[in-house]
Amino acid sequence: MAAFLVVACVIGPAATALPGALVATLATDTPFQGNLKNWLIAHSLGMLTFAPVFLHWMRGSVAGWLRIALRRKRGLDFALLILVIASTWATFSQLNYPLLFIPVLALVGFVYRTGYPGAALGTALVAVIGGVFTARGLGPVALIHGSAVEATRLLQIYLASTGLTLLPLAASLTARRDVNAKLKQSEERYRLVTENVTDIVMSLDRAGRFTYVSPSIRNYVALSPETLVGTSALDLIDPEFHAIARERHNQMLRSHGVPVRVEYIGVTGDGRCRWFETCGRATLDEHGIPNGVVGTIRETTSRKQLESELSATARTDLLTRLLNRRAFFDEAFKLVASGVDGCVALLDIDHFKTVNDSHGHAAGDWVLREVATAALETIRIGDTLARFGGEEFALLLPGTSIEQAEAVCQRILDAIAALQVNWRQDKVSVTTSAGITSIKGSVDSALHDADLALYEAKNNGRARVALAA
Ligand code: GH3
Ligand code: MG
Ligand code: MG
Repeated sequence: MAAFLVVACVIGPAATALPGALVATLATDTPFQGNLKNWLIAHSLGMLTFAPVFLHWMRGSVAGWLRIALRRKRGLDFALLILVIASTWATFSQLNYPLLFIPVLALVGFVYRTGYPGAALGTALVAVIGGVFTARGLGPVALIHGSAVEATRLLQIYLASTGLTLLPLAASLTARRDVNAKLKQSEERYRLVTENVTDIVMSLDRAGRFTYVSPSIRNYVALSPETLVGTSALDLIDPEFHAIARERHNQMLRSHGVPVRVEYIGVTGDGRCRWFETCGRATLDEHGIPNGVVGTIRETTSRKQLESELSATARTDLLTRLLNRRAFFDEAFKLVASGVDGCVALLDIDHFKTVNDSHGHAAGDWVLREVATAALETIRIGDTLARFGGEEFALLLPGTSIEQAEAVCQRILDAIAALQVNWRQDKVSVTTSAGITSIKGSVDSALHDADLALYEAKNNGRARVALAA
């Protein structure tokens, strides 16, 4: 468009000015310089007025507007068109008042409604009506005290400046309409997605109140999305997680656009314990200042269950269902870290190889399970019994003196010794030895000492408890 205007309004008139002025000078015997100036000004202003008009007529935008306006019965468009014609007519058909601004007002209204086609059509109409009346010596232009050439030039300047006022207006309106159309399209897409995903899409203001919640929230609470708007998101979160939720909300607002996650138990209509994860980030206002948060809420109950099942499996001995060696170490390290005193004992089944050799490996497994159950039933809640490996067990006794630990171990040994494990036609019995020590700040050295004590119990005839030196 800009290139077209430069060619039409500058290069075109400049290229034709020389021969044109020469012909005019020869034909009318007037000064060449004056003819050159008149030619340049007249053609530049003329092109400035009519080039955009022709361009839009040629592109069919005027015809396109007319078609749509007729089909959709846009009465206001036609009313404004009539206003342009009437005001131009009224302005140019009289000789009393210089009302040149009146048609411009009507034109601005017309362009505001119609954009480029209105600018092209409106300018053409004003040019034709104004031109005809001016040629007949009427209108504000004829009021000036000057020659006919000067009056015509004034009309040209008026038309060119009107065109130059309207075109940027039409351009910005068209651009805004394009943006609006794209925004609408993207909003439709967004709505389609938010209304059809199982995740909940939501936005919050700075204070953490809902400004939007997608319909999928109905899967979890009895309230409608509309009712939730304006209420605090904390109302849907278990109070135990309010502090972390608040903290993460502030983090989202602070960490410009970087997504932040928070996991919590939700308050749902059915009273079940359901886990949720929110992933959100800040939305910014036109000054780039965070004005809220947009995010998704997803139920993670099954993932949480799976995670805890996996973690339980990773801590459990599959044969005896006791804790395994790794879990025992975790518990022992936790106890030492908490600074609580206690004792640790290692228990080892005596001559277990003989059980396997006499009754088979499956019988050995069965005996191990029975021994584990008997030992577990003997200890208190808070004590930790684990299968340490093979036919060896470890016992953690928090807050227990060595004498108490000795008594506990003796009870376990007695319970195991009393077992009569049924295996096919046989009854299998085993005894156990145990080594005990108190924990003095180190898990490893406690286990080492307990192992030495166990060795001593074995050496002293088995089926007994030995205390570490
Ligand atoms: P001690 O009194 O000196 O402890 O004698 P022991 O026979 O118990 O000791 P040893 O370490 O020589 O043998 C341990 C046996 O435990 C050998 C192994 O086959 C058996 N064992 C270890 N783990 C399992 C298991 O998971 N199932 C079965 N059935 N046997 C096991
Ligand atoms: Mg053994
Ligand atoms: Mg052993």
